[in-house]
Amino acid sequence: MKMKKRIRRYCPYCKKHTEHIVERAKKRKASELTWGQRQFRRVLRGYGGYPRPLPDNAKPTKKLDLRYKCTVCGKMHTRANGGFRVSKFELVE
Ligand SMILES: [Zn+2]
Repeated sequence: MKMKKRIRRYCPYCKKHTEHIVERAKKRKASELTWGQRQFRRVLRGYGGYPRPLPDNAKPTKKLDLRYKCTVCGKMHTRANGGFRVSKFELVE
């Protein structure tokens, strides 16, 4: 699907509809200093297997991770109901 880079949608900080810039969240390496990552490393040590479910390749597409940046207050937020699945995604002017 094609999506506009700048859209008008609800900003939960301004509590009204404002112009937003749509961005795809980039994949970055997990920081080793966060609580979740330390917990993960601790659980991996010793006996007992991998603490997370192994990826099942049943779903052909992944959910999009879109971020909406309000141009009025500059804050970023996501959709209330998470992302949606789509095989092809493109941001257009
Ligand atoms: Zn705002």
